Amino acid sequence: VERSPEPTWSGPGRTADDVPIRLVANVGSAADSASAAEAGAEGIGLFRTEFCYLDAETEPTESAQRTAYSEVLGAFPGKPVVVRSLDAGSDKPLPFLTGAGTEPNPALGVRGLRLGRVETGVLDRQLAAIAGAEADSGAVVSVMAPMVATAEEAAWFADRARAAGISRVGVMIEIPAAVLTAREVFEVVDFVSVGTNDLAQYVFAADRMLGSLATLNDPWQPALLRLLATLGDAARETGFPVGVCGEAAGDPLLAPVLVGLGVTSLSMTAGALSSVGNRLASATSAQCAEAARIALRSPDPTAARAAVRESLG
Ligand code: PEP
Ligand code: MG
Repeated sequence: VERSPEPTWSGPGRTADDVPIRLVANVGSAADSASAAEAGAEGIGLFRTEFCYLDAETEPTESAQRTAYSEVLGAFPGKPVVVRSLDAGSDKPLPFLTGAGTEPNPALGVRGLRLGRVETGVLDRQLAAIAGAEADSGAVVSVMAPMVATAEEAAWFADRARAAGISRVGVMIEIPAAVLTAREVFEVVDFVSVGTNDLAQYVFAADRMLGSLATLNDPWQPALLRLLATLGDAARETGFPVGVCGEAAGDPLLAPVLVGLGVTSLSMTAGALSSVGNRLASATSAQCAEAARIALRSPDPTAARAAVRESLG
């Protein structure tokens, strides 16, 4: 991780020419949330609710969930927070939902929102708990679904969330099909956030858990950047908000590239906020656009990093 020489950032996120880029945090617990508030996060861009229940043998009750979520959201009264519905399965098995795990290819199986569509009661109880936590915490809550492949799935989730009383609804873009149908997805939700960890896994057919495939699962790969450019172009046409909440969002050198591709918010681990904030504050939006062009035409990740570093100075 690149460190900025002068850690001067104190929020909010903006480019050198004052274009606001919301810098928010990825959290999985109340402790994470407190550190994020301390570090100057403008809100939460990804609350991984499944992290609260990795050891749960039985489904937590609606009221237990409401309490747990309120504790996490309570660090951000009046601020935007994005709560992700349970992303169970594959690398994040939940004993009470995914059972013994007998699927031959769990990364391609019934996971994320697909599980929510089978276990609608579990999803509805979680949505009710999230709506309750908005009232308890005073945070401005959005809900977001993981592992969405089609606009139909996005619309189904949005209806369900709105029926539970949650007015702001988004989906994660982490399956290539969702990038290719982005315009239709934008019609049925209020925002999207790119999960670059899974998006890379599915673009390169490379298991994200395998260190030996890390050179493929690299957000600087031209194929991944081109997909993000496709999404960014669709978003700019309609002024649609696009966040990134995968690990890529915490790479300070990549942040200007992502902004140049059309990304309007970045969500990362609290420890990355100041270096990303500093880097963005020193680049104009024209420099971000140029960094994106340079990265897109680079032949490989090493060349892209070197050329962008050179361009941004
Ligand atoms: C992602 O896939 O990039 C993401 C942010 O979600 P997770 O890492 O929890 O799958
Ligand atoms: Mg993911």
